[in-house]
Amino acid sequence: MPPQASTALAPTPVVRLEALSPPGVDVYAKLEWFLPTGSLKDRVAVAMMEKARAEGLISPGTRLLEPSSGNTGIAMARLAMLWGVPLTVVMPEGSSTERIETMKTFGTRIIFSPQPEGANGAVRVAEEMAASGDYLMLHQYANPANVEAHYAGTGREIVTQLDRVDVLVAGLGTGGTLMGAGAAVRESFPRAQVVAAEPPVGELITGLRSMEAGYIPPIFDADRIDRRVLVRLRTTIEHTRLLLTAEGLFAGPSCGAALAVALRVAREMRSGTVVTIFPDAGWKYLSTGIYTGPLDQAVDRASDQILW
Ligand code: PMP
Repeated sequence: MPPQASTALAPTPVVRLEALSPPGVDVYAKLEWFLPTGSLKDRVAVAMMEKARAEGLISPGTRLLEPSSGNTGIAMARLAMLWGVPLTVVMPEGSSTERIETMKTFGTRIIFSPQPEGANGAVRVAEEMAASGDYLMLHQYANPANVEAHYAGTGREIVTQLDRVDVLVAGLGTGGTLMGAGAAVRESFPRAQVVAAEPPVGELITGLRSMEAGYIPPIFDADRIDRRVLVRLRTTIEHTRLLLTAEGLFAGPSCGAALAVALRVAREMRSGTVVTIFPDAGWKYLSTGIYTGPLDQAVDRASDQILW
């Protein structure tokens, strides 16, 4: 076999939010956009695909299929390209051009699911297609490798990078980050709290989902979370902009959601350390118009789009 590219991932940096940490409290952020395709989902794609390959499930004739809002699709597309395995991604109609073009660049076939059904529609269409038996669907919402990736990667990295963690805050999408990183953080800091940032039903924030919206990912266990804090689209956009202007971090909207919750928790504390995860950077959201112009207009524009 010819030499193959390594799929090993280097640790991502953790930075202290110097301008935004309230007095007495250290707020840290783990910058996941340092991964190869620019999001935390490189961890999940590598873990799921390497596991499937080790189990002999991926051979030259295998056709992969995955429902994804973008980040998992993009991360899987990179590995599928490297390994020469065809990948089909199901995503909601109206997903951003940047995501669609990136996947096409990596040679992925895209199938669109009906826009009004959002991410749940992509899962439904992919499940229907997988029922034919023609595809291998690794299914990040149900695959334990998603959680393991964040346990061994995100979470274990955090506990070696920080001397202390009192609260871990992460956005809730598939739940992989919260379940995996939460377990690793609790193992090293047993009194640490694990807090989810979650949008209210009907408000679409890229990558995040409300657990009240009709689909609970099989890998998600609400008992392993101490607190769920609702965060609205408006607050999310405000905090995404604040990250840019106050800290110089050009982050994607789910970072704004995580920041809003992390700061809220930090303000309730007298001292201690809060760490949060920033899943991806702002570049692929430029066309959504959330970074510039009056906030009201940005919220309206974002509300009209499928952002997850
Ligand atoms: N933010 C973004 C941009 C994402 O793509 C995702 C994944 N859906 C998340 C947050 C949530 O992460 P998780 O799936 O691990 O809950």
